[in-house]
Amino acid sequence: MTRARRAHLVTFGCQMNEYDSGRLRDLLCAHGWQLTEIREEADFIFFNTCSIRAKAAQRALRRLEELRPLKKNNPSLIIGLGGCLAEQEGRALFDQAPWLDLVAGPQHLPRLPDILDEILTDRSQIALIGPGETPAWSQANLEAQGAKPDTFNSTAGPLLDYVTIMQGCNNYCAYCVVPYLRGPELSRPAGEIVSEIKGRVAAGSRDITLLGQNVNAYGRGRLDGEPDFPGLLRLIADTGLDRLRFITSHPRDFSPELVNLFGDLSSLSESLHLPVQSGSDAVLKAMGRGYTRRVYLDLIEALRVRCPNLTLTTDLIVGFPGETEADFDESLSLIETVGFDAMFSFKYSDRSNTVASSLPDKVLEEEKSRRLIELQTRQKVITLAKNLAHLGTVLEVLVERVSSRYPGQLTGRARNYKLVHFDGPPELIGQLVSVRVIEAFSTSLRGERVEASR
Ligand code: SF4
Repeated sequence: MTRARRAHLVTFGCQMNEYDSGRLRDLLCAHGWQLTEIREEADFIFFNTCSIRAKAAQRALRRLEELRPLKKNNPSLIIGLGGCLAEQEGRALFDQAPWLDLVAGPQHLPRLPDILDEILTDRSQIALIGPGETPAWSQANLEAQGAKPDTFNSTAGPLLDYVTIMQGCNNYCAYCVVPYLRGPELSRPAGEIVSEIKGRVAAGSRDITLLGQNVNAYGRGRLDGEPDFPGLLRLIADTGLDRLRFITSHPRDFSPELVNLFGDLSSLSESLHLPVQSGSDAVLKAMGRGYTRRVYLDLIEALRVRCPNLTLTTDLIVGFPGETEADFDESLSLIETVGFDAMFSFKYSDRSNTVASSLPDKVLEEEKSRRLIELQTRQKVITLAKNLAHLGTVLEVLVERVSSRYPGQLTGRARNYKLVHFDGPPELIGQLVSVRVIEAFSTSLRGERVEASR
């Protein structure tokens, strides 16, 4: 009996890539592949990459280099690189890494099972890049690749799951490669999304995060009868799930109707990731973000009126070309004013094709590093203060797993997405439990169970 072909997948980068890899795993299994964690026993190794920041791209290329001896020892091994780095570099990757068999942009991943058969037959190098005509994981696209839609709805979903609702972005922020690599905005039909979520809820998912580069632009330019983003959230809220979140949204596309849903929709989580990128109007303008500091702060205020316990996280870039010390101070003061619960902060790096890469007045590397350290040091203090403010409060925790860090404890997330540890039996996994916070740390809370679960 011949053994099933084995695939080893490695994911770099964002939740969108995690989602793409998850669907690709489903698709490969549906085509008879087995998954393996051991790359040495794989027939196909695939890196799903990110190139948003120079560092992420360099890391993936370094890992690709490690595969060269594997290919030498096993010439029939297929090595593929997908995602944003593949889209950005295209066939040039074959010059850089001749042991590579396949390069596939994010919109072509659903074609991989067929393409792998093609490579196995004629051993040619194949590059699939450029835009697709439908969102990569739309039902239409999957069916066109010969996959059965049932496969995707019947997969036993984890407790916390992710569903892509759109791909691409039309915003062209001056520093960002996404619109060049993931293409223009393409929204999945609402009916298809709702049906996928119903399937996942039936399979056990209680907490679903909607994914897209700019989710609140969902449905822009939509067909008659298709909902906009608030309309989609209302439809999803009727599917019976307990918690609903979305990443990533853009402050410019945050409509008053969307603000009002916080507090209206009981399943909408009390947490929001809303990238601000800078606290300086001059830098926001140069970035092409389409809002001012005042507009951002007003939006936060309106959200907090609707949802006083809302936790907020953000992205912030330091050292954008032309950023002065005064501009940087504006970013420092903004994080104090808002009081973010957490922040993802980065040093600006030039990405090819972007407007910012050709801007003058680049900030010196040492200066960017200094600003990043100062920003992160301030944020650490704010984050701890936000966590300490939870002491004595009771949070509804969705129990996810046995704690890997604290023996005998369980770990879950509160409605505001704070990580909570508490003593309890594993039977509580998958249930909602009331927990009183008795200790606060920089990245999590510790509590004690106060009530029966459901
Ligand atoms: S909105 Fe986000 S994904 Fe779109 S261009 Fe701006 S930073 Fe990139």
